[in-house]
This record gives sequence, C-alpha cells and structure tokens, in this order.
Amino acid sequence: MLIVGNWKAYVDDAKQAKELVVLARRVAASGKHRVIVAPPAPYLGLLSKKGKSKLSFAAQDVSSAAGGARTGETTAAMLADFGVSYVIVGHSERRREGETDTLVATKAGQAFAAGLIPILCIGEKARDIDAQYLKELRAQLNAVITAVPQKHRAKIIVAYEPVWAIGKSALDAIQPGDLAEMVLYIRKALSEHVPAKEAAKMKVIYGGSVEPANIASLAKEGLVDGFLVGHASAEVKSFAALIKAFAA
Ligand code: PEP
Repeated sequence: MLIVGNWKAYVDDAKQAKELVVLARRVAASGKHRVIVAPPAPYLGLLSKKGKSKLSFAAQDVSSAAGGARTGETTAAMLADFGVSYVIVGHSERRREGETDTLVATKAGQAFAAGLIPILCIGEKARDIDAQYLKELRAQLNAVITAVPQKHRAKIIVAYEPVWAIGKSALDAIQPGDLAEMVLYIRKALSEHVPAKEAAKMKVIYGGSVEPANIASLAKEGLVDGFLVGHASAEVKSFAALIKAFAA
C-alpha cells in the first residue's frame, strides 16, 4: 500500500524532520509499503537528496507558474531539481485559502510539465442527505482530469479527503464501508475520462484522521490503495504506531 505522510506545518525543527525521515526510510526499505513524505518546503531541500533510497518525497504545494517574477513561489522545476517526485495539489487547507479548481488544475499541469506526479486532493466539506456532495466531489475531479492531457491522466494519485474528517480523531473518520462506496464512486468517475484498463490501475487513497486505531480496518475494507496521513505522520511516535498497527 501507499502511505503519504503530510507533515503540514506541524514539523518546525530540523532534528525532528531528520528523525521522521530515518523512520520513513526504514519503512520504505522494508518493501511492505511505498512511502512518500511531504515535509514543509525548507526541509525538502535538506532531506530529499537524489539517491538510492526507496523513500520518495512530495511537496505540499507548488507554484501555478513556471518561474520568473513570482516572489515567494516554489516552482515544479525547483522541486524536481531537488529529487522531489510528487506534489500535493488541491489540499482543502489550500482551497480554504482561496484556491479554485482552475488553479488546482494549473498546478497539476505545472507538476506534469516538470515530471512530477500530482497527488490530487478532493473531498466534500459536509454531507447532506440528498447526496449533493457527490456533485462537489465530481466537479473537483473533473476540473483537473479534463485539463490534464490524456497521456498523463492515469498517473494522477487521487486522495479522497472529506473535509469533515480532517484533523480530528479515528472516531470521527469515515467508516470503512462508506469509504469503499466512495472509492467505487471515484473509480467510476475516473473511468469516464481515462480508458477503463488504466482507470482500474489508478491509485485512489484516503485521508482524514487516519490513526493507529483505524488504519487496519480502513485498509482491509475500504478498497483503497493507501492513505494520506496528516497529524499521525508528523511525530516519530505516532508514525511508528501507525505503521505497527497497519502491519498487524
Ligand atoms: C490531511 O489534511 O491531509 C490529513 C489527512 O490530515 P489528518 O490526518 O490530520 O486528518
């Protein structure tokens, strides 16, 4: 399975960042899981040397521009130059700051242009009994997938992250059966834009309060290819506990 650790801005200490990477490298080296870590941008430069490790790196965001007069921006080419392979786009915490579907699609395009793989976050803010939230989800997915050239579409990693489940605890996360339904829904939506054979192989992962208490059941029954983990990936103790619970 694929485990993506989104450290957000929880990690603000180089020692902690290095310790987390040592652990993540060990998990990746075991060969049981594919591991990607997404440190805050300054630590990417420190940690993501091009090398033989099986651990991969993701950026938490990327500029929508290719470069030039863009004060404060980190471009996809800069990230690629530092051995970064993935970039998270459309995270709800960025959408909350005003990112639109159009901007997310542009960022995904920049990622592909530099040879990076986008991890596209989609997820409804809340659920309603008429299931209108499915429209919200589909709009987020369609905006990006239709903007990306056909040859790249199947490479996108889709992270289903219901906003109502983020940053809470395992008790508030989605139930495995509900997750399985959502994954099937997303796969069907993908197959409308990607040839069926390729769509079936696309990675669909889940994020939203994945913790040691729920990772095993979500993995077993949720039909996912992996997880995007926030708070539980940002401390050595909780990340180690998560991996242990996953293995059990
Ligand atoms: C996230 O925001 O990507 C996330 C999954 O966060 P958490 O695990 O803290 O809910």
